[in-house]
Amino acid sequence: MKIICIGRNYTKHIEELQNEKPSEPVIFLKPDTAILPKNFPFFIPEFSNDIHHEVEILVKINRVGKHIEPKFAHKYYDEIGLGIDFTARDVQATLKEKGLPWEKAKAFDGSAVIGEFLPKSQFNSLENLTFELTNNGKPVQIGNTSHMLWKIDELISYVSQYFTLKIGDIIFTGTPEGVERVNPDDILEGFLEGHKLFRIQVK
Ligand code: MG
Repeated sequence: MKIICIGRNYTKHIEELQNEKPSEPVIFLKPDTAILPKNFPFFIPEFSNDIHHEVEILVKINRVGKHIEPKFAHKYYDEIGLGIDFTARDVQATLKEKGLPWEKAKAFDGSAVIGEFLPKSQFNSLENLTFELTNNGKPVQIGNTSHMLWKIDELISYVSQYFTLKIGDIIFTGTPEGVERVNPDDILEGFLEGHKLFRIQVK
């Protein structure tokens, strides 16, 4: 399986990092080795002093597809989840400055938290889902899918122009504002419409 991540999909997050608003979705990949095993703590890697949490809505692909039209994209997933795209912001800043790829900052071991999934059929509209990340019980990121620059179906269509989507692939759909550094002893919990989908201890 592969993990396809979208960057810069929420205006206020683009502003907080002083990035340019993209004219097309920003895409990067994480390998399957990036997945943090279930119930494992997240260990801050030695190569960074500034690991940020980025809570994101996840989509799990359930059919093989390529060149998917937006109007058919809804047939390619039936579960929605929540996860964290851990980012070594200091490493990323150096890479961005040099115009280099982001993998060292984004695709390292443990950088992909994949929480539980819920059937999309249980939600009235995927375009109005509230999600939240708390750190030691305090809300740090609150997002709503209505603020996405590109909606889930548009993202599926876009990425499938480049990559064949396969069963089990996961799309990280971008983070809202509120990204912050994590520290040892943080407890990160993710909620989608009030359902707790993950709990991660930082070490
Ligand atoms: Mg992200």
